Amino acid sequence: MIEVIGRDDPGAPPLEGRPLPDVDNVSAVYWAAAASGELLFQECPSCGHRQFYPRAMCAACGGTTDWRQASGRGTVHTYTVIRQNWAMPFRELQPYVVAMIELEEGPRMMTNVTDVEIDHVHIGMPVECYVVEVEPGLGLPFWRPAGREREPGGM
Ligand SMILES: [Zn+2]
Repeated sequence: MIEVIGRDDPGAPPLEGRPLPDVDNVSAVYWAAAASGELLFQECPSCGHRQFYPRAMCAACGGTTDWRQASGRGTVHTYTVIRQNWAMPFRELQPYVVAMIELEEGPRMMTNVTDVEIDHVHIGMPVECYVVEVEPGLGLPFWRPAGREREPGGM
């Protein structure tokens, strides 16, 4: 089970003014599951393809996909540090990390890595998922370094 915290929890990243996910018929299951501590991806029973983000069909064969639950563990596949973004609320967060996380199960997820000094982020870094319930029933996954104390103050 993945830790779920409230948006006003002291451990939550700043979310004031942040755009919320555009929930649609396909992704609604994903966002609701995240709010209850389950990180989902899709797997195709026909061809075995695994994918993230949620799509209406398998991106490899066009078949119908099943939901699978991820462990919430992964590694930093690649990342960048945002030092200039003048749009609110992001300009208050700079510098911050935008990363592509490779889930233990294979699919990759674009996200933020928080609770870390910017200079400590690196490719291959083990990370773990946590979720902020930004609205009742809507969970927004974030990632932080795994297996060690979080570093307070890092967005
Ligand atoms: Zn398929």
